Amino acid sequence: MVLTKETGFIDHESIYDYLANTKPPEKKEIEEILAHARELKGISFEETEKLLLVEDDEQLETIFETANYIKNEIYGKRLVLFAPLYVSNLCKNDCVYCGFRVSNRKLKRATLTLEQVKKEIESLVSQGHKRVLLVSGEGLGESALDYTIKCIETIYSTKVGNGEIRRINVNIAPLSVEGFKRLKEAKIGTYQLFQETYHYPTYKKVHPGGPKSDYLYHLTAMDRAFKAGIDDVGIGILFGLYDYRFEILALLQHIKHLEKEFGLGPHTISVPRIEPADGAPLSYNPPFPVSDREFKKIIALLRITVPYTGIILSTRETPKMRREAFALGVSQISAGSRTNPGGYSSEDSGEQFSLGDHRTIDEVIYDVCKFGYIPSFCTACYRLGRTGLDFMDLAKPGLIKLYCLPNALTTFKEYLVDYASDETRKTGEKLIEKMLGEIPSKKVKQKTINALKRIENGERDIYL
Ligand code: SAM
Ligand code: SF4
Repeated sequence: MVLTKETGFIDHESIYDYLANTKPPEKKEIEEILAHARELKGISFEETEKLLLVEDDEQLETIFETANYIKNEIYGKRLVLFAPLYVSNLCKNDCVYCGFRVSNRKLKRATLTLEQVKKEIESLVSQGHKRVLLVSGEGLGESALDYTIKCIETIYSTKVGNGEIRRINVNIAPLSVEGFKRLKEAKIGTYQLFQETYHYPTYKKVHPGGPKSDYLYHLTAMDRAFKAGIDDVGIGILFGLYDYRFEILALLQHIKHLEKEFGLGPHTISVPRIEPADGAPLSYNPPFPVSDREFKKIIALLRITVPYTGIILSTRETPKMRREAFALGVSQISAGSRTNPGGYSSEDSGEQFSLGDHRTIDEVIYDVCKFGYIPSFCTACYRLGRTGLDFMDLAKPGLIKLYCLPNALTTFKEYLVDYASDETRKTGEKLIEKMLGEIPSKKVKQKTINALKRIENGERDIYL
């Protein structure tokens, strides 16, 4: 292992060497690895590294089938829904792919007041959302953390009718250990930060200015978050900046590092592909575009390697791609998203990148139901303290179906009663009936039926 001062625990030389000198595995070896994967305990990173080199269509198909098997066995048909909440598009960084970059002088800048945050949340809650991802540029300097914490307090204290936001995940610039401690005290769910690219020379090129240009400070953010006691962290790669094979090998090194140091890997992995962004020319022409076929391979490999880690996808992808991505292992999607501060209550400010999917949450839910997936707004684990290693104890095939499916059904029922259109309600009720049959315990099934009745009678927020 060759580690340098600049690249920390991401050993670039070993990755270059592996990609230049390793042949794809033989059919027999692939079959052995996939048989191991079907035991639902994950495979070794060495096995993943081998599968990453598979290019043959037929062999790729067997990888997809295995990922689909794992997804169904462990997660069943649940899909967790959330909405991003952009609170500020001010930024002193100059990330060449992002519309918020400091050199984009045309962008209309805004930071929401707490009153505006409340309005945004009222709009999201009125659509049926229960989970938000708070997102911000890095332009508020010293006051950034105080502001973020006030936003979190405002969000948790906003109620509309029967609804409220029950979990706030956060995607903001990295903090010191002390800063992360304060974020934890504010009761965040997951702290998310994407390395964007693990490839040091590319990282330096695409982050030419501002604090984010420090590769190592960004890379070690999750170490500081863990040290501060945050045990649900989300990592990610912005696909299109560099060779996806390098990125996946480096991501595995990142996970290995966290497991070694803290006994625990990431709670989620996000897989955004670069979207076109006004004022960020690179975003229209990414240097290493990831094809749909490669994208499916990435999702399948992640599902096989870390079966209990959530995979997050934006709704930007086409319906066909989304259906395939769900089948391969995506477990969370955003819905009804806006990427400009104030976008839900129609304030006028610049967006981060353009969305291809402008559908409402109800339209997304109807669509998801038609594919046979059950939308979930569940936040039970986090609220019962089942995070970090405690969540991992629960993350066993039978147990996920035993706890998560009933909670998905009750939170979806709340959506149907309080927010759905007639068409979605009819489709959703039929799906709930069908899904009750998949709960693997008579006792839990009866408890769930009782909970569904209590929701019809006006009770809310019932979970196992
Ligand atoms: N400012 C913080 C940061 O950069 O880590 C957090 C917020 S930033 C808006 C969230 C994420 O947006 C980035 O990590 C990046 O991956 C993603 N992003 C930026 N430009 C994008 C684009 N053109 N298409 C898709 N995702 C993009
Ligand atoms: Fe700022 Fe984040 Fe956009 Fe970079 S990706 S310009 S840090 S908001």
